[in-house]
Amino acid sequence: MSKENPKRKLFAMLPSVDEVLNDKKIMELSEKLPRSIIVEAIRNTIECTRNLIVDLKDNQIDSFKLDYNSLIDNCVDLAHNNYNLSLKKVINATGIVVHTNLGRSLISESIKGELWQAASRYSNLEYDIEEGKRGSRYSHLKDMIKRLTGAEDVLVVNNNAAAVLLVLSTLAKGGQAIVSRGELVEVGGAFRIPSIMQLSGAELVEVGATNKTHYNDYEDAITDNTKVLMKVHTSNYRIMGFSEAVSLEEMRILGDKYDIPVIEDLGSGVFVNLSKYGMTYEPTIYDSINKGVDVVSFSGDKMLGGPQAGIIVGKKKYIEKMKKNQLTRALRVDKMTIATLEATLRLYLNEDEAMEKIPTLKMLTYTKEELFKKAKGLQREINNYTEVADNINIEIEECKGQVGGGSMPTEELDSYAVTISSNNISVSQIEKALRLSDKHIIARVYEDKYILDVRTIFEEEFRDIAIELKKTFGGK
Ligand SMILES: *Cc1c(COP(=O)(O)O)cnc(C)c1O
Repeated sequence: MSKENPKRKLFAMLPSVDEVLNDKKIMELSEKLPRSIIVEAIRNTIECTRNLIVDLKDNQIDSFKLDYNSLIDNCVDLAHNNYNLSLKKVINATGIVVHTNLGRSLISESIKGELWQAASRYSNLEYDIEEGKRGSRYSHLKDMIKRLTGAEDVLVVNNNAAAVLLVLSTLAKGGQAIVSRGELVEVGGAFRIPSIMQLSGAELVEVGATNKTHYNDYEDAITDNTKVLMKVHTSNYRIMGFSEAVSLEEMRILGDKYDIPVIEDLGSGVFVNLSKYGMTYEPTIYDSINKGVDVVSFSGDKMLGGPQAGIIVGKKKYIEKMKKNQLTRALRVDKMTIATLEATLRLYLNEDEAMEKIPTLKMLTYTKEELFKKAKGLQREINNYTEVADNINIEIEECKGQVGGGSMPTEELDSYAVTISSNNISVSQIEKALRLSDKHIIARVYEDKYILDVRTIFEEEFRDIAIELKKTFGGK
């Protein structure tokens, strides 16, 4: 018992919640933050300090000082932290354009008016203005999709995983779906075609070998209970070398011969022929429809550069059936998704406009000269802020970026990076300091360099990066 007495004196010095609430700094804070947040922060801070005292060793008790001012500062910081939103802006300096962990595609600034209007005002979401009666939320995208792809009808659900589920559940439940072994992919977030197949109630019939599948493999597998022939565009990996797959044209021939619909999970949907912009050719949605695929599904927020969505396009008779599936109600998209998607699709009516205004497309197709200029700009800004710091090396180097989002895995994007290294501060310390800073800069570390790939950094973010580096390294 003897050692508790000196601690009791320290415990007695701890302020009460009410005392702290009456502190001048805390009173000022009450004008900005909700009282419940402040009280929670005070309770936690006092509790922490109490635990500190509990843990003190005998020989530490005398030197322990309870600093009232820093206790108040801790309360203020904690209250601010608790009030901040969990979902926040970060700076993507990874050079990965469609970065699933960092929010995938960015919406075009040019359509923010449409998005905000749909969100904040009433609309004809499910109302037919001509007829003055109930309408369908899916009717809004129909004309635009028809113009862009030639498809008869469209249905939009939450994401492409949901789209694949809905397609299979509607067309293949209780029957068989034939898929090539080379296409049984897993994509990010543990989405696996076989698992989705099982959920949908369709029986998966695998044909061919991992590297080769032939027309005959499909034909031999067809039974009276075959409901669909399915093609999966393996956008997130590629079998190189000795490989062969059955083309969409051949699948169409087979589908016609046995009267079985041909469906395709295209993964990352593109409308633009990217080979015109120096990238590897990636099949477009128009190609699939043109080659006679009955139903195609793809993501809204991969290379298309729109909101998260799963877009199903194809023959009206199949899409109509899907609209009647009860699952559609459960996978229903919000008006903000429809508004954002329709406005994004409209940008595609003029390809130059799409390439310029849709951030995903713009970032993917920067020229090396543009990237070098960006790197120069970032380097200049960092130099300005860290001028008198003598422990920092700032260089421009070539680097490789990626499309991301499981799209075009073999495509390396030639890019430029500003690289940072130092003799005094380890590269992992730099990475951590910038990640945890107010601006949350997410970048790569390679060997002993901190790498800021400028492809995915906005020019207006250059100064923020420079300021955070200055805080880490010093400077004028
Ligand atoms: C990305 C992808 C999906 C899943 O799409 P989400 O929109 O992320 O749900 C499904 N299939 C393929 C082939 C994909 O590449």
